[in-house]
Amino acid sequence: MPDPGDYEAAAAGLTLDRMEIEDGGTNPAQLAAAIHRQLGDDEGPVPVQAIARALDIYDIRVAPLIGIEAALVTTPERTEGAIVVHQAASRQRQRFSIGHELGHFLNPRHSAAWGDGFRCDRGDLSGRVRSPVRRAPTRYEVQERQANTFAIELLAPRRRLRPYLDADPDLRHALELAKGLDISREAAFRRFAELHDASVAIVFAHRDRFSYAIRGRSFPALALTRKAQMPWLPQLSSAQMYTDVEEAESTDWVQTPMSGPMYAQTLYQDEQRSTTLLICDDAEDDEGGGIEDAAARLGRFGR
Ligand SMILES: [Zn+2]
Repeated sequence: MPDPGDYEAAAAGLTLDRMEIEDGGTNPAQLAAAIHRQLGDDEGPVPVQAIARALDIYDIRVAPLIGIEAALVTTPERTEGAIVVHQAASRQRQRFSIGHELGHFLNPRHSAAWGDGFRCDRGDLSGRVRSPVRRAPTRYEVQERQANTFAIELLAPRRRLRPYLDADPDLRHALELAKGLDISREAAFRRFAELHDASVAIVFAHRDRFSYAIRGRSFPALALTRKAQMPWLPQLSSAQMYTDVEEAESTDWVQTPMSGPMYAQTLYQDEQRSTTLLICDDAEDDEGGGIEDAAARLGRFGR
């Protein structure tokens, strides 16, 4: 695990041109990209505290908070601001929260729901839809989503992710990504699924029941509903926390029949929680239906 003292200390005194960053517009991904253009091609964890301080955040505090995860104290003009993050959160979550609040701060279109700024709870920061009712998101929800987009684009920019996405999909790389960029596993898994070139999804389960999934762009719709019993999962065969990549029954997982095989790899986080990487291999279509035996296909994803 990188020592936060190292990369934050190394970036202390960083200077950034806030005007140039905000000239790029209000799109959260573009705002983050403008910051990275000024930072240059660095590797490893993004020094989010030093970045915030270089952009007129005069104080970043860790304190016990009740009912919220993070807050930004500022004025409508946003000349300066202060960020407070929840003491009980992990360092990685605190880093994400700082990014999220900075996202509110830099976006002139974000209006504060409170007179002195923004107060964001766990739901705001999770990026998950809280209500199953299909309706247009409120302005508040749009702002929260944009602040999350900014945070992840700032903490895990595509360029720094490349080393973890270039190989065949494997949970090992997603875990290395979390460590390498000092972000939470959940954020790393989300980024991994969304940006991997292969067709992948990551499925979270609790007590062998489906919680939720993050699907990559080309991954088909899942057949599982919330709290449904999980299908068969690969089992551990070594001292690692994660299994090998094994062939899975696609009809257990997805709604529509697939032409190619599916593979699964599971990380057992603790007694109750598991995270499963699903890989959809539709290469047979691309190769004109060539027959390839299962062992060879497994070999492609094996180590
Ligand atoms: Zn927020």
